Amino acid sequence: MVEGIGASSGIAMGKAFVIPTWEWDFPDKLIDVTDLAFEFERLYDGIRCSKDEIVHMKQEFVSVLGEEQTSIFDAHLAILEDPIFMSEVQGIMQRQYKAAEVAVKEAIEKFVNMFDLLDDQYMKERALDIKDVGNRLLKHLLGALEETLPPKDHPYIVVAKELIPSQMVHLDINQALGLVTMLGGKTSHVAIMARAMGVPYVLGLEGKLNTAIQNGDFLIIDGDEGRVFVNPSEEIIEQYKIRKTIWQKMRDKLQTLAGVPTQTKDGVAFQLAANISSVKELDQALRNGASGVGLFRTEFLYMDRHSLPQEEEQFVVYKQVAEELGGKHVVIRTLDIGGDKSLDYFALPEEDNPSLGYRAIRITLDRTDLFKTQLRAILRASHYGHIKILYPMISSIEELDKANQVLEEAKQELRNERIPFQADIEVGIMIEVPAAVLIADILAPKVDFFSIGTNDLVQYVLAVDRMNEQVAHLYDPFHPAVLRMLKQTVEAAKACNVPVSVCGEMAGDIRALPIWLALGIRDLSMSVMSILRVKNSLLQSQYSESAAIWKEVLGCGSGKQVVEVLNKHLHQDVLTK
Ligand code: PEP
Ligand code: MG
Repeated sequence: MVEGIGASSGIAMGKAFVIPTWEWDFPDKLIDVTDLAFEFERLYDGIRCSKDEIVHMKQEFVSVLGEEQTSIFDAHLAILEDPIFMSEVQGIMQRQYKAAEVAVKEAIEKFVNMFDLLDDQYMKERALDIKDVGNRLLKHLLGALEETLPPKDHPYIVVAKELIPSQMVHLDINQALGLVTMLGGKTSHVAIMARAMGVPYVLGLEGKLNTAIQNGDFLIIDGDEGRVFVNPSEEIIEQYKIRKTIWQKMRDKLQTLAGVPTQTKDGVAFQLAANISSVKELDQALRNGASGVGLFRTEFLYMDRHSLPQEEEQFVVYKQVAEELGGKHVVIRTLDIGGDKSLDYFALPEEDNPSLGYRAIRITLDRTDLFKTQLRAILRASHYGHIKILYPMISSIEELDKANQVLEEAKQELRNERIPFQADIEVGIMIEVPAAVLIADILAPKVDFFSIGTNDLVQYVLAVDRMNEQVAHLYDPFHPAVLRMLKQTVEAAKACNVPVSVCGEMAGDIRALPIWLALGIRDLSMSVMSILRVKNSLLQSQYSESAAIWKEVLGCGSGKQVVEVLNKHLHQDVLTK
């Protein structure tokens, strides 16, 4: 058994499908001149195999994605036939007597660097294609056995060094039973998506496995305990089959709470809304009794495609969400890319500290063209339901003013075009940067609401990368510094009568309920799968006890002590976790 970090609840059992890392480590091998002909033969063989594989992948994908979306495979085939790329490879072999794989690696590096330097979006994309095709070719030259397509005949557990959000968009949840990654963080977007999809996920196995997991190994993953069993004994399998049944029973029991009013034992009502990334999650959110959508992460609309979504396309999606909610609110957050979320077609600069770099509102205020397109789409959709706008990563009054100025321009354009929209649409900001907390009193009079994003707030207050499993033990939402940040935000908001909600992962943590109760926060937004669990706990909580708990918590010197206090008051009844 290997102990990792449980990032999405539940138990999965099945065969491993290992996603290749495409990281090759081989010596700079030279060849003898007499071996040149043989080496060329190897190169051509590799090219043939790569082409066959790409053609096969294209056929596989055509049925799922449609003809249009598979042009990427044609582009990859074209690279393998490109005379300039090929003569570079051949030239290195012929002139420097380097082995085929060394020549291919050097040629890839040369072209990727060359294209990357160009200030041209299209060329940057080509650099990615060359890297991808080159890696495929290297795989064949090195005789590596990795499968690149998941099995079709049986479900599987995805194993990868690291996953990125756009890979999650491709995941077939009918086939993927669970996820295991060596790297990653509990509040990474991949983890958030796994929870939203209800797919068990364990991460942080780097350096903990004696031998690497192989394709076809039988795995059990326990997303609650953070455990992974590789080829376990019959006895363990039997134990986990029983656990899985119990887990399912608990979920069924929770489901019966969906229609029950959301309030504490002593009658304090809450709004438990859902965080969603796509329209697909809306059904489940409503089935779980969500009071609305407290956070619509729109960046996922921009993923899994080749170009930016245009106004009309975005409008259709926002309108659909607003209408399906039938009067319940949806908080649409403007584009929050950067950090761990990238877009293939939107080349973000390579940065040493992406979380502190070009991301979220910093990008949209720089690219007001795409910001305004999104705001126009949101405004137009506001005519069809209860929509609010939320700006991410605000850290200064100037950013807020500038964002509002673009919003005003968008409104004016729509007025001129006689397109209807909600003129007094509510506009709020994420409180997720410590600077925003410290100037919350200055920001509050200028907004309609605050939404506390604890995922980033914890990362920035504690200087702990939310993506880095090596410092995961330091990532502590219950750290006294975080609690003081929450307190200060709420006090500043109260002074201006500005409502505060919480939409970070902490909102879905039942241990935090007494804190919200004591602070007067009544609006939480969380992963769809957390709603009923939090509700179950809330139904057993007493508002009258929360002030004393909060006092005790504020007196604690460490996050560990805070958790000890909160654990004493935990209500989970039908649940063990
Ligand atoms: C947050 O930072 O808490 C948040 C909700 O936003 P995201 O997780 O998308 O960064
Ligand atoms: Mg955030």
